[in-house]
Amino acid sequence: MAPLTDRPFGEPAVVVGVTRILGRSGARMEVLRPVDLGGLTVGGCTVPASRPVDVDLDLECDGAAIVATGTVRAVADGECRRCLDLFPVSVDLRVREVFERRPTEGETYPIVGETIDLAPVLRDAVLLALPLAPLCRPDCPGPAPERFPTGGPTAPENGEEPEPVVAPDPRWAALSELRLDD
Ligand SMILES: [Zn+2]
Repeated sequence: MAPLTDRPFGEPAVVVGVTRILGRSGARMEVLRPVDLGGLTVGGCTVPASRPVDVDLDLECDGAAIVATGTVRAVADGECRRCLDLFPVSVDLRVREVFERRPTEGETYPIVGETIDLAPVLRDAVLLALPLAPLCRPDCPGPAPERFPTGGPTAPENGEEPEPVVAPDPRWAALSELRLDD
């Protein structure tokens, strides 16, 4: 178990004192507050540092363990994978995690002294809930045409139909060079 001082720089702790419920099975306390997780990024989504994540958790002592259940709400800045516009991505998720003196790697979280640190729980929950490739809306048509000129057919000058412009297949590039040499 890593001591709290080994925390990577820039990742704030959300330490909660649990003295009044520790070892008293069935005793509960509430954690209801905005917390700063120091910025979270996954794929095309970022929760900037200093933007609070809303936490509403019930902590209950269960024997030697503490069980945290409740909701976590965060709003990320998402970059649409089609049109690249920025738009808000809200996550509102249920969490249920267990804290123990001797935590199981990847399954439970540590009780240190008479405190628990909620930050790793919140960070893991929000990162898993955010979409890797967000869409601003389900039918996003993609980039506006003027951003990526297509080089399509130009208007006819003499009333004839314009020649259709067909993108050259790179596999034929060598052949068309041969023809130009004739
Ligand atoms: Zn979009």
